[in-house]
Amino acid sequence: MKFSTKAIHAGQEPDPTTGSVITPVYLTSTYRQSELDVHKGFEYSRTGNPTRKALEECLASLENGKYGLAFSSGLAAEHSILSALSPGDHVISTINMYGGTYRLFEKVFKPLGIKFSYVEDDAECFEKEVKPNTKLFWVETPTNPLLRIIDIERVSQTARKYAIKTVVDNTFATPYFQQPLLLHADIVVHSATKYIGGHSDLIGGAVILNDEEWYKRIKFFQNSVGAVPGAFDAWLMLRGIKTLALRMKKHEENAKCIAEFLEKHPAIEEVFFPGLPGNPYHQLALKQMKGFGGMVSFKLRNADKETVNTFFKRLKIITLAQSLGGVESLVSYPYTMTHGVMPVKEKEAAGITGNLVRLSAGIEDVEDLIDDISQAL
Ligand SMILES: *Cc1c(COP(=O)(O)O)cnc(C)c1O
Repeated sequence: MKFSTKAIHAGQEPDPTTGSVITPVYLTSTYRQSELDVHKGFEYSRTGNPTRKALEECLASLENGKYGLAFSSGLAAEHSILSALSPGDHVISTINMYGGTYRLFEKVFKPLGIKFSYVEDDAECFEKEVKPNTKLFWVETPTNPLLRIIDIERVSQTARKYAIKTVVDNTFATPYFQQPLLLHADIVVHSATKYIGGHSDLIGGAVILNDEEWYKRIKFFQNSVGAVPGAFDAWLMLRGIKTLALRMKKHEENAKCIAEFLEKHPAIEEVFFPGLPGNPYHQLALKQMKGFGGMVSFKLRNADKETVNTFFKRLKIITLAQSLGGVESLVSYPYTMTHGVMPVKEKEAAGITGNLVRLSAGIEDVEDLIDDISQAL
């Protein structure tokens, strides 16, 4: 099956007892056993729930992976991967990444004895940092918020030379635009809160992989820690996925129009969108992605926090809020919002300056979005 067919059908057979076409929301914590050790595959909903199972199978199918695991948030999904490490193990990641991931590394796992290094976003920089105890390469591409792109295939090949596993945070691209497992990455992680859910009405996460041993380890943490989505959240994610392809096409189309508009505007210093031919990552994006995604970042010329705030206050349709990937357009201020936890020196080094705006293009009519940005500028 191709992508949209899988999105609508994978893991989702009509319900065998009633014929219900849509996978029911199995709001139950537990399951009857007809006698000791005899049940229908479900015992307790932390361990397994039929709605969640349908979601997990669908996600695995979309990423071309064998196994899918759903979590109560993207960070819970990341936590389950990192839990498989032992004190003394080493992880290499990039300087530019989601601030919450950085906080999980620095404030949760570092005190437990896991070591982290941060490098520039290319395979050679990863290789130079490899140590005998390096267990994971952690790659986010496109990165948040500057939309830099890392060559997944090259990083994964480098990792394989040293028996290191490569994790790719595929939140921004979604499996519609990028399938890291086909580029030889080992583990894909998602914040399903974003495009997968797609309607800004849930928090969720996912891990997809082929390696059976790592699957068993991560599944063990999923059950032992218990950061699983409830049945209704799992159902909302499944529902969101059905229109993922349609939404991603429109998100991208709108983002591209907005990026082109901003590029010509005198109040804009710089635009970050891999779909612009002049973007330094454009060729790499063409190589490893089927599209450029729906995120655009930009710097307002000669602007400080107060000026950026005035711009935000003038916007009438586009909403100032955390998060991204919903049907409505959102703007955010990485300097104090997503990346507020990062020390100023590291933030500036990563290019996250006080005049940077991140925009998640929704699926509204793009003329309205451009009019809104134009009047606010
Ligand atoms: C939001 C986000 C996360 C964290 O996911 P939550 O669902 O908020 O826990 C991780 N990675 C990226 C790239 C994100 O945008």
